[in-house]
Amino acid sequence: FPVENIRNFSIIAHVDHGKSTLADRLLEITNTISKNVRNLQVLDRLQVERERGITVKAQTASLFYNYNDEVYLLNLVDTPGHVDFNYEVSRSLSACQGVILLVDANQGVQAQTVANFYLAFESNLTILPVMNKIDLKVAKPDVVLKQLKNIFDIKPEDVLKVSAKNGTGVEELLRAVVEKIPPPPADLAKPFRGLMFDSWYDQYKGAVANVAICDGVVRKGDKIQSCNTKKTYEVQELGIMHPTEVPTGVLFAGQVGYIIANMKNVNEAQVGDTLCHDGTSVEPLPGFKPARAMVFAGVYPSDHTEFSALRNALNRLTLNDSSVSVHVDHSPALGQGWRLGFLGLLHMDVFNQRLEQEYDASVIVTAPNVPYKARVFGAKNLKKYGGEEVTILNPCHLPDPHVVKEYLEPMVIGTILFPDQYLSSVMNLCMERRGEQVDQVYIDDTRLMFKVILPLSEIVVDFFDDLKSITSGFASFDYEDHGYQVADLVKVNILLNSRDVEELTLICHRARARVTSKQVCSKLKETIPRQLFKISIQAAVGSKFIAREDIPALKKDVLAKCYGGDISRKMKLLKRQAEGKKRMRKIGNIDVPKDAFIKVLKR
Ligand code: GDP
Ligand code: MG
Repeated sequence: FPVENIRNFSIIAHVDHGKSTLADRLLEITNTISKNVRNLQVLDRLQVERERGITVKAQTASLFYNYNDEVYLLNLVDTPGHVDFNYEVSRSLSACQGVILLVDANQGVQAQTVANFYLAFESNLTILPVMNKIDLKVAKPDVVLKQLKNIFDIKPEDVLKVSAKNGTGVEELLRAVVEKIPPPPADLAKPFRGLMFDSWYDQYKGAVANVAICDGVVRKGDKIQSCNTKKTYEVQELGIMHPTEVPTGVLFAGQVGYIIANMKNVNEAQVGDTLCHDGTSVEPLPGFKPARAMVFAGVYPSDHTEFSALRNALNRLTLNDSSVSVHVDHSPALGQGWRLGFLGLLHMDVFNQRLEQEYDASVIVTAPNVPYKARVFGAKNLKKYGGEEVTILNPCHLPDPHVVKEYLEPMVIGTILFPDQYLSSVMNLCMERRGEQVDQVYIDDTRLMFKVILPLSEIVVDFFDDLKSITSGFASFDYEDHGYQVADLVKVNILLNSRDVEELTLICHRARARVTSKQVCSKLKETIPRQLFKISIQAAVGSKFIAREDIPALKKDVLAKCYGGDISRKMKLLKRQAEGKKRMRKIGNIDVPKDAFIKVLKR
C-alpha cells in the first residue's frame, strides 16, 4: 500500500458523545461490517464495555475506502472517553496523525472534550472538529459552535455536522479524513521499526501486540527483537484488524496492525517498546510516560486456595492493561495478596469486574487510598525506609508522627464545566473538599469553566457523584496530576471488639478525622450483620478513641421461625445462610462481608 494512501486517525470525545456509534457507521460505510446489525458498537469488545456502555480499552480497525477511484487504507483507533482512561487515549494518539474531535450538538463541550483536545493539540495532530447528533430536536448547534470558537479558537465554518445515528454527513467526514489528515511519515527503505502501542492477551494465541510500523517492512517468519528487553522472537502471525484479526503475511511502513510472536507475559510485551529486526540497531522510538497510579487497593483471593489461580489471572489481565501497577502485599486477616495501583476508581471497578468475568476469579478488594508521602528524619529511619521520602501504598504502613518531618498528599488540577446557575453550589462543594479555585471563564453565555486545585483524596470516591447531584447532572469533570502538597495527616485505626483490623486502616486529614471515623463506624454497623455476640466498632488515632458504634447480639435463632415443621422452608433458609457465609470473611471470630472494605468509604 502506498504510504500516501494511508491515514491513521482516532476519534476523541467526552463520554456518550457518540464515538462508538460513529465508529460503527464508519465500519459500515466502508463495508467492514454489514449494515443490518444495528447498534453493534463493534469496537467495544469487552463484556464490561457492553454492560456499562463505556469504552475501556482502545481498539483499532483498518478500513478500505474508495476516494476518487483510489483505495485508501484508513486505520481507526477508538479511544475511551472517561477521565480514568486518559492514559489509553494518549497512547492511541501516538499511532495517529489526526483526530476527529466529536462534540454532542446538545451537550456541547464537556470536561473530557477539553482534556482530549489538548492531548491532541500538544501532540501536533490535525484536528477535525465534528458536531454529532444534529438529528436531535434539542440540538443547539449555534451555542456549540460558539463554545468551540471561545475555547479552542475553531472557526464555525470548519466544523462538520453529522448524525452518527442515522449516517448524515458521515460520508463527507470520511472524505475530510482523506483530504485533511496527512499520511504517516514512513520510510519503506529504512530497517524495520515499529511502536508497540497496545497489547492484549488472547486465550488461544497468547500475547497480541498492536504495532504502528514506522519504517521498513516486517513479514511472517521474521526474527524480531525488543529494543527494551533485547529478547528475540519469531513472528508467527501478523496482519490488520478488519475489524478482527485478518492475517496479511506482511506489514509495511505507515500501517497499523497486530503481531503475534510468542510473547509470554507482561514484561515481554511492554507497551511503548520499539520492535526491530534481530541484529539491526535502530533508534528506539519515544515510548510513553509510565501511567501514574492515583488509587491503591489491596486485592486478595476470596479463598486462599485460589491464590495461584488469581496470580495467573492478574498476570494476564495486566498484560491487557499495563497501566495497573502491581506490588505483592500481605494482610493478617486476608493472607497473601497484592496492592494494585489504578488510574482512578472506575478503572479499579472495571479491572475487578474483568478479573471476575474474564478470568473467573473471586476477589476481595480493600478500601482504596491515594499514595500519600512522608518525609522521615534520623539516620536510622532514613536507612529503614531507604531514603527521606517514603510513598505509602498501604495506609497501615504510615510512619509514626515522631519520625516524620512532614506528610504530603497528592493533588490534582480539575476542570469543571457547568451552567452558571449552579455557581454557588459548585463553589461550596469545592471548598468543602479543600479546593482552591485558580481560574473561571465563561465558555458561552451561560456555561462556566472552573479550574480548581484539589487534594486527590477528596475527589477519588464520590466527588463526581456529588457534583452531578448538585447540578442536576449538568456538570462534567476531568482532572490531571498536580504534584504533592504538605498536609496534616493522621492514621485512623479501626477496631472490631478491641482488635485492630489492619485492612480497614485509613489515612485522612486531621480536620476530617472525627467526621470520617464516625461515618466509617456507622457504615460498618450497617454492613456487618448481627451475630451471636455483641460487636463493638471503634476508631482510634494513636491511643485516642474518636468514634464508636455497637452491633447488638442476635437474639433469635433464624430457624425458630419455622418450628412446626416445614422442612423445605428450613432447608431453604439454611442454604441461604450458607450462601451468605460465602460472601463473608472471618476477622477474628467476626463475619465481615467481602464488600464492607469498599463500602465504608462511600459517604
Ligand atoms: P461513546 O461513549 O462516545 O462511545 O458514545 P456512544 O456511541 O455509546 O453513544 C452514546 C449514546 O448516544 C447512545 O445511546 C447512542 O445511541 C447515542 N447517539 C450516538 N450518536 C447519535 C446521533 O447522531 N444522534 C442521536 N440522536 N443519538 C446518538
Ligand atoms: Mg464508546
